[in-house]
Amino acid sequence: MGTYTYMKGGFPGENLPGVHAALDFLISNINHCHGYEKSPSEFVSMEGQRVVVLGGGDTAMDCNRTSIRQGAKRVTCAYRRDEANMPGSRREVVNAKEEGVQFLWNRQPVEIVGEERVEGVKVVSTEMGPPDARGRRTPQVVEGSEEIIPADRVLIAFGFRPNPQPWFAEHGIETDERGRVKAPAESQYKYQTSNPKVFAGGDMVRGSDLVVTAVWEGRQAAEGILDYLNV
Ligand SMILES: Cc1cc2nc3c(=O)[nH]c(=O)nc-3n(C[C@H](O)[C@H](O)[C@H](O)COP(=O)(O)OP(=O)(O)OC[C@H]3O[C@@H](n4cnc5c(N)ncnc54)[C@H](O)[C@@H]3O)c2cc1C
Repeated sequence: MGTYTYMKGGFPGENLPGVHAALDFLISNINHCHGYEKSPSEFVSMEGQRVVVLGGGDTAMDCNRTSIRQGAKRVTCAYRRDEANMPGSRREVVNAKEEGVQFLWNRQPVEIVGEERVEGVKVVSTEMGPPDARGRRTPQVVEGSEEIIPADRVLIAFGFRPNPQPWFAEHGIETDERGRVKAPAESQYKYQTSNPKVFAGGDMVRGSDLVVTAVWEGRQAAEGILDYLNV
């Protein structure tokens, strides 16, 4: 079931008109391209707009390049760490730069500003501090470094968390403290959850990751089911 809880920045202005969740924008683009949209107002068009994309993962890269291809006037991608510590694919950054995306590394958003609708993003500069438990260096704010990046549209691409459903508990499917379904690879039946008849894999088990790992875990879970059924 993937990971579909949007992570928010928790700063003022996130609900201003002109601010969009990354997936809403990307889905509206796909619906528009394939003629699936129910009404033209569903389409978020970046044509002629100054777009600021917040985040540094693969979703942010999709937002950058989709905005460019829709004819945005300017696309700026602001990320709170430096280029070496970003989570997205390096190749995507190269490709995004080739298409004209401007990257602002070491910028942490603190507010989306505007009266009636978005007018800009207030950011502070950061410096990279010591590595965290996962080895990624933590950004630390530089005092007095506030600046405003002008924007007509802002796309928030801060990533996704699991979305455990109420029926998990009803059916004895346990999750960890981050909402990920517990389905260990190394148990007797691979990827079996705490309900013996339910198996799980992919993002809902490991958190947002990659297509290849989800496909691998799906295959492994299928083998786990065959072993459980003794076939
Ligand atoms: C914008 C974006 C860009 C990405 N770019 C890349 C990339 O470039 N390379 C890469 O490797 N990975 C990328 N990823 C990550 C990759 O898409 C995921 O890691 C992968 O799709 C996870 O597979 P999954 O099967 O676990 O979950 P998903 O692919 O999310 O599939 C889960 C499915 O379950 C359905 N579902 C959810 N809840 C329910 C329910 N209650 N009932 C019925 N169905 C339900 C969903 O509709 C969905 O179809 C990207 C992700 C996003 C969002």
